[in-house]
Amino acid sequence: MAFDYDLFVIGGGSGGVRAARVAAAEGAKVALAEEYRMGGTCVIRGCVPKKLMVFASSYRESFADARAYGWDVADGTFDWPGFRTHLHKELDRLEQVYRGLLDGSKVQIFDARARLKDPHTVVLSTGEERTAKHILVATGGRPSAPSIPNAHLGISSNEIFLMDKMPKSILIVGGGYIACEFACILNGLGVKVTQYYRGAQILRGFDDEARGLVAEMMRDRGIDLHLGTNVLTMRAADTEDLASATFTGSDPAMGAASSDAAIPISDAEYSGPVWTKATNGTEKVFDAVLFATGRTPNTDDLGLGEAGVKVGRRGEVVVDEYSQSNIPSVYAIGDVTNRVQLTPVAIREGMAFVETVFKGNPTKPDHDLIPSAIFTQPEMGTVGLSEEEARDQEPIEVYCTSFRPMQTAFAGRSDRVLMKLVVSLETRKVLGCHIVAPQAGEMIQLAGVAVKMGATKEDFDRVCAVHPTISEELVTMKTPVRTA
Ligand code: NDP
Repeated sequence: MAFDYDLFVIGGGSGGVRAARVAAAEGAKVALAEEYRMGGTCVIRGCVPKKLMVFASSYRESFADARAYGWDVADGTFDWPGFRTHLHKELDRLEQVYRGLLDGSKVQIFDARARLKDPHTVVLSTGEERTAKHILVATGGRPSAPSIPNAHLGISSNEIFLMDKMPKSILIVGGGYIACEFACILNGLGVKVTQYYRGAQILRGFDDEARGLVAEMMRDRGIDLHLGTNVLTMRAADTEDLASATFTGSDPAMGAASSDAAIPISDAEYSGPVWTKATNGTEKVFDAVLFATGRTPNTDDLGLGEAGVKVGRRGEVVVDEYSQSNIPSVYAIGDVTNRVQLTPVAIREGMAFVETVFKGNPTKPDHDLIPSAIFTQPEMGTVGLSEEEARDQEPIEVYCTSFRPMQTAFAGRSDRVLMKLVVSLETRKVLGCHIVAPQAGEMIQLAGVAVKMGATKEDFDRVCAVHPTISEELVTMKTPVRTA
C-alpha cells in the first residue's frame, strides 16, 4: 500500500520536532501536525519561560548582595507587564526557530489538530485525511488539578506566564518540581507565597537530606510552607472574607483580567481572590491559587481507541522499550507515555525511535541515571540513587558536607549548600550525587558524566580540586559521615 508519508508526527514539542527532523534527514517523507504553538510545553509554557522567570526572580537578592560588595544600588521594582512582553517576544522567536528547523528539514507542517482514524490514517481538524506508514504520538501532557469543590478557580503553570497582573499573594498546592520552582520564583518576584503539600516533606522521591535543606532554604526566604496540609475546598472570596482576619494581603484590585491586558488569562476561570479551607481547618484568602499537582498525558479525543491503541490507567499511551504501542505502526514518545517527564528524555526517545524505525538499528532509550535539576532557590541537582534508595539496595557509605558558601556568607546571608555522594561499599561506585547550591543544575550535568561512566569514590578523589569553588567539595570529602 502506498502511503502519503513515511512518518506522521502528532505534536510539535521537543520530542516530536526532533523525531520529525531526524527522520527527514534519513530521507523519510515526514509530516507533523501541531494544534497550538510549535515548541510544546518546554518552549511555550514550561522549561524556557520558567527558567527566564527564575533569572528574573533572582535579581532581588542580587541587589542586596551587591550592596554588601560595595555597590551603591537601590532595590528596584519589578515590572511584570514589561518582563512578560519581553518574555513572549522571546517565545515567539523560539517558536519561529522550531518552525524554521522543520521547514529546513522538509517536514510538512500542518497547523491543525490531528487524530487517528486507524493504524495508518490521521484526520486533521481541517477535514483533510493523510496516511502514513508510521504514526508517532508526541502530544505531551497537561496540568491536572485535584477534584475539590471549585478547583476551576485555581490556575496552573500554563496561566502563570499569561497573567496580566502579578498577584500579591498566592497559594501553591503541591510539593513537586513545579510547585517548588514557582514558590521560589514568585517569592523572588515579591509575591507572598504560601505552599501546601500533603506529604511529610516536599520533593518526594529525592534524597531526604537534600530536599530537607531545600525546604529549609525556601522557608528562610519567606515561603510559608505547610507540610501534611492540602486544600479541602475553595470558592470566590466575598467582601466579608476580604475584610476578615483570614485575609492574607490580597490586592482588592485583583480580579478579573484588567481590560488593558495584552495577553488574556486563557483556560482557567481566573476570577480574583479565592477563599480556601485547608485540611487542618485553616481558612485563608489568596489572590490566586496555583495547582501544581501533576500532569496528565494528552490522549483525550486522539482517536487512539479507533486505531486500537492501548491506553493505561493514567491515560498514557502504553509502549514497549522501543516506544512502540500494541499497534505496530503507532509509536509514542515523551510525556504522553508517562515514563520520565523531562524534555531531554523525550528528545532521546525520539532519536531512539528514528534509529529503530528508519535506520534499522533497534535502540532502546536509556532511562538509567538521568541527571535532573530543580530550579528552586537554591537549586537542587541530582543524579542516581538517593541515600534511602541506595541503602535499601546494598550496603553504602555516605559522604556529605553542608556549609555556608563564600559568596553569600560575605553578603550576610544564611544560605547553606549541600554536597553529597552515596557510594557502594562493595563496588566503590558513586551510586548517587546530590547537590543543593546556586548553579547546582550546571554542576550536576558534569557530575552526571562521571556517575554515568561508573566512576568510583576513588576516581572522584583522584581529581584535583578547583579552588575556591563550592563544587570542589565533591572531590575533597575524605571521611564518610555514615555507613548504612
Ligand atoms: P510532580 O509529580 O513532580 O508533583 C506533583 C505534586 O502534586 C506532588 O507533590 C504530589 O504529591 C502533589 N499532588 C498530586 N495530586 C495531588 C492532590 N490531589 N492533592 C494535593 N497534592 C497532589 O508534578 P509537577 O506537576 O510538579 O511536574 C510534572 C513533571 O514535570 C515532573 O514530574 C517533572 O518530571 C517535570 N518537570 C521538570 C522540571 C525540571 O526538570 N526542572 C520542572 C518542572 C516539571 P505526592 O508527592 O504526595 O504525590
